[in-house]
Amino acid sequence: MSQRTIRTIIDQQELVTTPAKTSVSEAARLMKQRHVGAVMVVEDGKLVGIFTERDALFRVLADGRDGQTTQLDDVMTRNPRTIHPDRSFAEALQMMYGGSFRHVPVVEDGRPVGMVSARDALGPELEAFVYELLRQEHVGEILA
Ligand code: AMP
Repeated sequence: MSQRTIRTIIDQQELVTTPAKTSVSEAARLMKQRHVGAVMVVEDGKLVGIFTERDALFRVLADGRDGQTTQLDDVMTRNPRTIHPDRSFAEALQMMYGGSFRHVPVVEDGRPVGMVSARDALGPELEAFVYELLRQEHVGEILA
């Protein structure tokens, strides 16, 4: 499987961060504008939480909260798991699988520098996986 580093994936990324005192509606607009499924919640330059589309659905909509008045502070996940940019993307995927989430903020020297998501796997890793399946199928046909 490809061993892309996180750094190569976040290379061209622009950070999508917002303070904890942002309303859910504002955060949703930001996520829409920037075409992302999650925002990093940052205070004094440090990552304090993550808010994802799943939180908007389960912790806001499903609970009957008002997006205009609810702040991220009340519905974000605090102290999310993070990864260093020099680690491999495969490691981030394992972290997502183990923790049942699809986003991992990337932190270097205590500062958020990007975010990887399961969607990033729709690249070389998926290609390598499909290739491996086809290879196994082919080997199976030969052995049959
Ligand atoms: P997701 O699948 O990424 O939309 O997230 C599912 C749940 O896990 C949501 O409650 C998120 O706030 C939370 N979550 C997302 N990413 C992380 C992370 N890196 N560490 C801990 N929790 C997370």
